[in-house]
Amino acid sequence: MRKCLVVSTLLATLAATSPSFSGATNNADSSPPVVIASWQQDLSVQKRSLGARYPTAELLDAVGVWISKNFDLPIAVRPRVELVTQDSLTALRYRAVETDQNAALGGEHDVVAVYDDSAETIYLADGWNGATPAEMSVLIHEMVHHLQNRSATKFECPQQRETVAFAAQELWLSKFDRTVESEFGIDPFTRLVKSSCIQ
Ligand SMILES: [Zn+2]
Repeated sequence: MRKCLVVSTLLATLAATSPSFSGATNNADSSPPVVIASWQQDLSVQKRSLGARYPTAELLDAVGVWISKNFDLPIAVRPRVELVTQDSLTALRYRAVETDQNAALGGEHDVVAVYDDSAETIYLADGWNGATPAEMSVLIHEMVHHLQNRSATKFECPQQRETVAFAAQELWLSKFDRTVESEFGIDPFTRLVKSSCIQ
């Protein structure tokens, strides 16, 4: 009974939030996708050494501008980016759960990235190189948290920060006919639950 109530409340939330997402996609995103050009240029330069690597300053800037244009968040100074081991990501995730300060992407045993509010740092897995749309989408997701943090956007609960982070990730992946579900196995309903204060 209680489960049904939660489900219907979540579906109502989805219905209420959907128009603003489609609006953002249709209006602001009609401009040339500079971020894709920047990403592809970056990749062609880096092609020789596509091992693990840090995103360049130019790429971070392009991602920030793209998010800002599409999701009504102000551009901010660049975050720090660290590539860390899987164990470190898992530890950071536990700290995130305890403090409500950080936002982690991924499940308990497969954390793919964490953003730390106080350190203003994006932590990516140490194999990250941004060569695929999915990897870039992880950076985009975490960059949303950075822009939210820097702009001191207020939320009813920490989970609510995920709504725009997933929407940005989804919009990016849609340029390559991919989805958060196809790349990360996170279906829209699970995404909604992760973004909801009702937990
Ligand atoms: Zn997130």
